[in-house]
Amino acid sequence: MTPNLLDYDAAQLTGFFAEIGEKPFRAKQLLHWMHQCGEADFSNMSDLAKPLRERLAACARIEAPPVVADTTAADGTRKWLIDVGNGNAVESVFIPEANRGTLCVSSQAGCALDCKFCSTGKQGFNRNLSTAEIIGQLWIASRALARDAGATPAHGAATVPGAMPKGERLVSNVVMMGMGEPLANFDNVVAAMRLMLDDNAYGLSRRRVTLSTSGIVPAIDRLGDACPVALAVSLHAPNDALRDALVPINRKYPLAQLLAACQRYLDKAPRDFITFEYVMLDGVNDSAEHARQLIALVREVPCKFNLIPFNPFPNSGFKRSSRETISRFAEILISAGLVVTTRRTRGDDIDAACGQLAGRVEDKTRRTRRVVEIRPC
Ligand code: SAH
Ligand code: SF4
Repeated sequence: MTPNLLDYDAAQLTGFFAEIGEKPFRAKQLLHWMHQCGEADFSNMSDLAKPLRERLAACARIEAPPVVADTTAADGTRKWLIDVGNGNAVESVFIPEANRGTLCVSSQAGCALDCKFCSTGKQGFNRNLSTAEIIGQLWIASRALARDAGATPAHGAATVPGAMPKGERLVSNVVMMGMGEPLANFDNVVAAMRLMLDDNAYGLSRRRVTLSTSGIVPAIDRLGDACPVALAVSLHAPNDALRDALVPINRKYPLAQLLAACQRYLDKAPRDFITFEYVMLDGVNDSAEHARQLIALVREVPCKFNLIPFNPFPNSGFKRSSRETISRFAEILISAGLVVTTRRTRGDDIDAACGQLAGRVEDKTRRTRRVVEIRPC
């Protein structure tokens, strides 16, 4: 199989052209065609000489993974189910808002980290997505949204509900918050994020690309060096005993180590705070005492809190905290001076809300069914 040019960031594409005896500026031209124009056919690349187009067609390909379903929710949230082969499919979700359009991107087919409240985690793990499969989600979304808006992917016109104003990007923000743990697929995720940031590709600012992690501490440090983007950390519990039960990676990298890594990351980060995500689970992590423990825990870390009402899925064993409980929890944090937002649930009628993404995963880990009892700590 010939190499897929969607697998390459700028440096890798420059290397590819050097190997076939072409000048480095060809990489820029190709990035522009592939990512700004959404072009997959070399023969349409009009500023390349015909012999080069023919040569590229013979020795390379541009291939995004196929879309198997494209669904739009009542609130305009749109979800693509993307076939990544061997019975696996991943999901990406576009969330239109008044002043921005956010694409939530998957990084793995499934997830091995087994957080107890997460439907992706329940599916087990098959494999890491390639760079082409990760950036392919942005490629697919940009093309589809631009097509609907009657525009080229880079320069959308607002002709459909939810589209960005004329001249703005349809996808203005990317969050690595879909299926999988992005830091467990480090190299491919970093190459894809470099394309998101590259002015010859999607040209997003570092502040508009957010990576969410459950807390793989050494990889947080590597990310700060390799590709610092906005960081969200899935906290979900204010003490190690409860976090060990809810987010099993905590047994390897407990809270003290995680918070120290967050502090170090801030030296490199494009924003001057870390976002802590906290899923609100009824009777599990949502008491006033949990809120007070949380305040003490994050005292040293400049941060914002994003409370996520739990999104249910079949047999999860959890319930969403009531609206009153979430407000009371938020109030306690706010009265201690913390900035708190509560995430609005979007697209839940098409199972596109946080933690509901399941796609299709052929579990390779052959996880045996375990019964884990979670008690408030
Ligand atoms: N693996 C990464 C990113 C993907 S999950 C991570 O864990 O951070 C994106 C966010 O959704 C995380 O904060 C995750 O904990 C949260 N989440 C998972 N399942 C959820 C559910 N059922 N309801 C609400 N949020 C959920
Ligand atoms: Fe994986 Fe994130 Fe789900 Fe945990 S919450 S199982 S890390 S995708």
